[in-house]
Amino acid sequence: GSVSKTNSLSIVHLKRDLQLPTILKDHDEDNEGYSEGKVVNTRFGSFPHTTLIGLPWGSQVRASIVDTGSRGRRDKQDEKKRKREEADAEEHANKTRKLEDGNDDEASTPGAAKDEKEAVAAASGFIHLLPPTPENWTSSLPHRTQVVYTPDYSYILHRIRARPGTNIIEAGAGSGSFTHASARAVFSGMAREEANGSATKKRKLGKVWSFEFHEQRHEKLQLELQEHGLEGLVQVTHRDVCEEGFLVDGASPGADAVFLDLPAPWLALPHLSRSTPPPPKLRPSAPGTPGDTNGTMELATPQLWISPLNPTAPVHICTFSPCIEQVQRTVSVMRRLGWVDIEMVEISQKRFEIRRDRIGIENGAQRGLLTTPANVDEALARLVEVEGTFKSFHENGEKVEVKKKDKSNPNNREKILESLVDNKVYKEGNLTHKSEPEVKTHTSYLVFAVLPPEWSEEDEKRARRTWDIKI
Ligand code: SAM
Repeated sequence: GSVSKTNSLSIVHLKRDLQLPTILKDHDEDNEGYSEGKVVNTRFGSFPHTTLIGLPWGSQVRASIVDTGSRGRRDKQDEKKRKREEADAEEHANKTRKLEDGNDDEASTPGAAKDEKEAVAAASGFIHLLPPTPENWTSSLPHRTQVVYTPDYSYILHRIRARPGTNIIEAGAGSGSFTHASARAVFSGMAREEANGSATKKRKLGKVWSFEFHEQRHEKLQLELQEHGLEGLVQVTHRDVCEEGFLVDGASPGADAVFLDLPAPWLALPHLSRSTPPPPKLRPSAPGTPGDTNGTMELATPQLWISPLNPTAPVHICTFSPCIEQVQRTVSVMRRLGWVDIEMVEISQKRFEIRRDRIGIENGAQRGLLTTPANVDEALARLVEVEGTFKSFHENGEKVEVKKKDKSNPNNREKILESLVDNKVYKEGNLTHKSEPEVKTHTSYLVFAVLPPEWSEEDEKRARRTWDIKI
């Protein structure tokens, strides 16, 4: 939908790199003690859920002054703790991201409110209400592990050809960042058809078959998927895939695509074979399997082998590993198991920080900017601003009041817009950019490969007929 709804996830966007995912409630089932019902408390003020329900996505919402009603002192301490935690999270984010976006700390919002007075001042802040997209979820989800970020998963989903109808195997699920993105990839085509009013013929929906061996992570993800209405699209299984493979209730997910974000993907690869079981040396240890000897799975008969893959289509895989040694082992096992078109890619996404260098006399002079009378005037005016007083050089020798130095951030969007109206923004200084250092952009190496469908007796016969080949 295009508006926020009760009991649905929405993203409360405070500023760049600071978002709070929130399930909006029209009543206070946790009995927090606010007369307004449930309230999102942030360093930019308080936002009762009721003021956030039914708004078009993207709305800017001003903070409210909330009535703390029956809230006791302990509850207030909890609130302060949460604000402190939020401030810490923000400080952490700011260490790497210094750009201003929307809320301006210096100008309109104080830090974490220390008392009632500050709380009232905090009410002048605002948030933007954003829709729950995989991108917004990725940047706001509670981290339980390292996660796959949008630049990587958009490329991965494209390369493994995830689209409506695709069955994707994913392991490990971790914090569910990739899970949410892949759920949209296998589903969204259907939604688009419905939106066009042309959903006459039913299309096969794909599914994400997700695996996670850490019990709490598995439980938490299941809960989140329920809250986000994705249970039907994603099936999470609590499982060590290196030991037990990818069948679900003994049946094949029929996967067309696979994504492995595991410390040792090469141990999971033998389970991703086609109908022929993997060669004995590469077969995983499966204690308790009939015919198991010395930890090497010896299948009684090949017929017992069930492949988790779609038997009729090429299967596209991506493995995600931070170290090159992991890549080497993965590629080596892929080769032995018949994967082809093996390729490694590294996504190097950089954020460029665009800043306006305010021209002081010194650096202006260094850049040879003091060459025209206009530039000299500008530089002089700046010097005067710094000193705070200005003796007029006009005949009357009067002392001229100089505007107090504007200490607020010159990159504040409103200021820039104001300057634009005066058509003078270039006078604020040169636009320069800085990119993040190389090392920060390394996430992981992506290994892609394809497992072709098996060549069956039927295929052989068909080919011989087609090409008229006699035995
Ligand atoms: N891709 C995830 C995301 O975007 O949020 C993050 C995955 S995290 C880096 C790796 C996860 O794999 C961990 O949660 C870990 O518990 C799980 N894991 C590691 N070995 C596993 C195995 N053999 N079977 C199932 N899960 C495993």
